[in-house]
Amino acid sequence: MKPYLRDKIPAGFDEIPDTPSYEAGYLVTKNSGWRNVRPVIDTKKCIGCLNCYLYCPDGVIFRSNHKAAIDYDFCKGCGICKKICRIGAIKMEAEK
Ligand code: SF4
Ligand code: SF4
Repeated sequence: MKPYLRDKIPAGFDEIPDTPSYEAGYLVTKNSGWRNVRPVIDTKKCIGCLNCYLYCPDGVIFRSNHKAAIDYDFCKGCGICKKICRIGAIKMEAEK
């Protein structure tokens, strides 16, 4: 079991997990099926500031090549990450 990472706020982007911050339990299955929009990160704009990671209520944002990335199996499409990204690196796109 991974530690509860929000007990220790990471000081730098390299300290955030390179997988989603929560580990799915035995009874948890992929649960993003009802999402009608999805956040898409523009990796050219993303500066790795951590804000979207810290505010995602589902803990599904992780680090990939010093940029933020999203586990779409569990992202609910709430759009909080888009609201919190000050440089506009995240946009919401309709699910196909
Ligand atoms: S808040 Fe925006 S700039 Fe910061 S890590 Fe997330 S996507 Fe990148
Ligand atoms: S849309 Fe919501 S659940 Fe999905 S990554 Fe953004 S903040 Fe997390």
